[in-house]
Amino acid sequence: MRDCTQGAVAYALREHARTGHLTDPERLAHALGVRVVPGARNAASHGPPSVITLRRDQYAPRQRFTMHHELAHILIQRAGLQDGIRSEVDDDEAAAHLEAVTNHIASLLVMPDPMIRVALDTFGLTPETVLLVRDAGRVSLAAAMRRVIHAQEQSATAWVSAGPYVLDVTSSDPYNRLTRYQRLPDARAALPDAALLALPGEARLLGVVGW
Ligand SMILES: [Zn+2]
Repeated sequence: MRDCTQGAVAYALREHARTGHLTDPERLAHALGVRVVPGARNAASHGPPSVITLRRDQYAPRQRFTMHHELAHILIQRAGLQDGIRSEVDDDEAAAHLEAVTNHIASLLVMPDPMIRVALDTFGLTPETVLLVRDAGRVSLAAAMRRVIHAQEQSATAWVSAGPYVLDVTSSDPYNRLTRYQRLPDARAALPDAALLALPGEARLLGVVGW
């Protein structure tokens, strides 16, 4: 990871730990001394005073993550690393890179390390751990999969398939050969070491495998 990005992540993790790893966005904003007000667009200014504006029409499930995203912007600004992060890449990629780093920090705020540790201690590297993190963090399955797999020391892969096709896959394993839209009609036979779980109410299968 690049220096400024790494510095911003470390700063955000320290600040989050000081709040006791609050995940509720309103309480986290309050603990970080950030005011949240309605506005014409989603934006963050570290001030002082630190203010987040949020569009009214985005007060929806997605908004939970939107608030974490804007809080991550404020933490990056407070760390004094926004320009540094932008300058880690070419000018035409700077905005997208800053947003990617901000989303990464937001995912750490909404699914903090203690949450991941509890889930892994309870269920190990399994689909149940991914579902626990999804439900505890109130995030998408895709976000929970990525957070669990990349929190691992060991190489691991998680995927979702529908019928014979892989719909989504995330991996930290350099030897992973699963890809999106690949046919995987018999996961049990193809990946005998994987833990599989049929997602209730959906014709989908969640698989996790680690080495
Ligand atoms: Zn943003």
